[in-house]
Amino acid sequence: MKEKRVLNHGRIRLVEQMGGDGAVVRAARRCWRSVSKGDASDHRLLVHLLKHNHGTPFEHAVFTFDIKCPLFVARQWFRHRVASYNEVSLRYCVAEKEYYVPDDLEPEGRITYDRTIRQAFEVYDRFLAEGVRKEIARAVLPLALYTEFYWTINVRSLMNFLHLRLAPGAQHEIRVYAQALLEILEETMPVTAKCFQENALNPQVPSREDGP
Ligand SMILES: Cc1cc2nc3c(=O)[nH]c(=O)nc-3n(C[C@H](O)[C@H](O)[C@H](O)COP(=O)(O)OP(=O)(O)OC[C@H]3O[C@@H](n4cnc5c(N)ncnc54)[C@H](O)[C@@H]3O)c2cc1C
Repeated sequence: MKEKRVLNHGRIRLVEQMGGDGAVVRAARRCWRSVSKGDASDHRLLVHLLKHNHGTPFEHAVFTFDIKCPLFVARQWFRHRVASYNEVSLRYCVAEKEYYVPDDLEPEGRITYDRTIRQAFEVYDRFLAEGVRKEIARAVLPLALYTEFYWTINVRSLMNFLHLRLAPGAQHEIRVYAQALLEILEETMPVTAKCFQENALNPQVPSREDGP
């Protein structure tokens, strides 16, 4: 099983894959009642599809990933609606005390950061010990807390995610996840990944994110 470590405690694990470069080519060639005509021709076909926004053949390749990322990254991630999500529930599970630490905090800022998060964890534990429901106690937890979710996505939608989240204007912490996803795409669908990088990866997207 492919796994990429991301940030201090995060990861992307490839759980399952359906289809690959061949599935995209087969689906596209169905339009002309034809079959694969060799690597060079298939490569040209994929370039043609990407250049002309003929996206549906890429929907025949699907990945399921097991993602672990900070809550504030998940908040941005879940804006991508064309995918399926199942996330660990802090109504039913006790939170694990793993949190993201940025590596560019000044020493004094780092002390404040750790202290604030530990205090939140102490209050959370105390609430649980006093019988406060998990679904309420979780409200004191920090956005730096890691969450985990299954993410099933077809490659058309994955390329949209990569296009938006690899761009320089995307936040660093989600860009590193997008980079790890691109590496998995390169390892599992090398022709699609190459065509995507050469023809569709356009960094001209919004330069800042004020909202989620
Ligand atoms: C750098 C950056 C900054 C951002 N800043 C903000 C911000 O400040 N505030 C904020 O709220 N969000 C912000 N976002 C989130 C952004 O608006 C999108 O919600 C997110 O990127 C998901 O993109 P998407 O809609 O293309 O993806 P998906 O939801 O996966 O949709 C994929 C595609 O399906 C189609 N589609 C899906 N749903 C609909 C629909 N209802 N109607 C029509 N077509 C649909 C569209 O073609 C869409 O591109 C930001 C994103 C980025 C990358």
